[in-house]
Amino acid sequence: MPFELPELPYAKDALEPLMSSKTLEYHHGRHHAGYIKKLNKLIEGTAFAKMTLPDIIVRADELKDSSVFNNAAQAFNHELFWNSLTPSGKQKPEGSLASAIRRDFGSVDEFEEEFRVSATGLFGSGWVWLVSDDGRLRIIATGNAGTPLVNGLEPLLTLDVWEHAYYLDVQNDRGKYVDTFLNELVDWSAAGERFERLRKAA
Ligand code: MN
Repeated sequence: MPFELPELPYAKDALEPLMSSKTLEYHHGRHHAGYIKKLNKLIEGTAFAKMTLPDIIVRADELKDSSVFNNAAQAFNHELFWNSLTPSGKQKPEGSLASAIRRDFGSVDEFEEEFRVSATGLFGSGWVWLVSDDGRLRIIATGNAGTPLVNGLEPLLTLDVWEHAYYLDVQNDRGKYVDTFLNELVDWSAAGERFERLRKAA
């Protein structure tokens, strides 16, 4: 079965005016869709075709197959990105995730500051992540299609910092885009659920 473009978990205009429907139309409908289309073409008739997306990513990384890796990782990264945003924004972390953030970063404010520095400081295109490293929380940045799956880290949240994610809305102002994510759009409740699932599976 070829991979399919997952539907957005909200309407295309649900994040207006912070993230426009025009951005989602291109970012989801063209960029994300394009990675999946290319991935399907690349893996057709190969051993990859029967594998899950995370397994393809790890295997393509081992084989240094950059075409398959880049398109598979971008497919995965974007799916998590859409599920890191919510129209019912202005959330703060709660429960066990909030406790773990205080334990590992000092406070939610200090987490946000580190995330902001990481996202604005990443040169060129890439992703910034909140990950669980065996239960410990860390912020990491990956260039281009890079994904923490290849390092055995469990992603809880991600922010796409490729220019295509924000250029239509705020042009080159990545700082404003990052602040909007942290203050208005981040889906802490989904991140908290991911963290709970990991704790229960541990
Ligand atoms: Mn993107």
